[in-house]
Amino acid sequence: MSNPSLLILAGDGIGPEVMTEVRKIIDWYGAKRDVTFDVSEGLVGGCSYDAHGTPLTDETMARAQEVDAVLLGAVGGPKYDNLDFSVKPERGLLRLRKEMDLYANLRPAQCFDALADFSSLKKDVVAGLDIMIVRELTSGIYFGEPRGIIKEGNERVGINTQRYTESEIARVARSAFELARKRGNKVCSMEKANVMESGILWRDVVTEVHQAEYSDVELSHMYADAGAMQLCRWPKQFDVIVTDNLFGDLLSDAAAMLTGSLGMLPSASLGAPMENGRPKALYEPVHGSAPDIAGQGKANPIACILSFAMALRYSFDMGTEADRLEKAVEDVLADGLRTADLLGEEGVSPVSTSEMGDAIVAKLEASL
Ligand code: NAD
Repeated sequence: MSNPSLLILAGDGIGPEVMTEVRKIIDWYGAKRDVTFDVSEGLVGGCSYDAHGTPLTDETMARAQEVDAVLLGAVGGPKYDNLDFSVKPERGLLRLRKEMDLYANLRPAQCFDALADFSSLKKDVVAGLDIMIVRELTSGIYFGEPRGIIKEGNERVGINTQRYTESEIARVARSAFELARKRGNKVCSMEKANVMESGILWRDVVTEVHQAEYSDVELSHMYADAGAMQLCRWPKQFDVIVTDNLFGDLLSDAAAMLTGSLGMLPSASLGAPMENGRPKALYEPVHGSAPDIAGQGKANPIACILSFAMALRYSFDMGTEADRLEKAVEDVLADGLRTADLLGEEGVSPVSTSEMGDAIVAKLEASL
């Protein structure tokens, strides 16, 4: 069987810095676990614009469609702020998401015990938290027609349309149920079926998919506003939450911040299964290119490293190795290692991006 293939697009700003640390981990897996990835690299964002006049070339797009998974750093920066909209760095990322048809956005909210004090919630509410929000990413109110600002009599009217087809709901529901089977086996679906027809359809279709294909998974339904309250009150009641594009945008940001710094948050965007059964997949940290700290060795590489752990689990079926990597991250944090974004405790001085990466590799080594 051929090696699993990975396209690395480090991008701009701190993207290449955090990706260097992921490369150390990939190399470690090759040397010590006999897990060799066919790694190719490409340009995305501002660096691609500088080299080719476009934020993503057709060749890189084609390569992204071929590989088992894409791992992206970050794009953008002040240097590119005044570019025409059509060639802005973010357009490269949007093109990848659109052409790969990545309809399920996975945002974990995981709280490492050592960082529980970073949350704005009480420690016992968040310590050990591990939930996954699955947000529908390619339809709903951000894409529905009609849309626009029109004139009605003397005033302007802003219009957006929430629109979901049965198949769009069914496929993201399947993603959530599949994930739940690899985790705590529970899905909570959130919508506003009390006031929105699209919510009624959402609830019906999720229930139908559940009954037909996933009756072994526990399913519950919640109105999205009640879900927001429950996320703040007792988030540990959830395992996988599945919801639409708009509610998912809000709920995943709120849930992510339960756990502290932007430098810690990974994400995955998954599409339909390919011929080999693996989903089309793009993994990336939630943070941007952080131009304020780029080039200074201050970036926290953990969000990007945890994004790679998600790739191990969801693209490569290497759940045990993903557990090993997540445990290594947990252990360095328990030892008190902190990059500058995680400082807060007295008497702790920060480690650099590469020191954090090296420490995680050392923990992997110690796990053997
Ligand atoms: P940002 O996420 O880059 O930074 C916000 C703040 O968090 C900054 O103070 C930064 O220093 C800090 N931060 C972010 N990641 C960190 C890390 N790994 N370690 C330590 N600190 C970290 O958001 P922004 O400042 O709003 O945007 C900067 C650029 O990034 C813009 O050009 C924006 O368009 C782009 N952006 C890209 C993506 C992406 O590539 N997916 C996402 C968001 C923003």
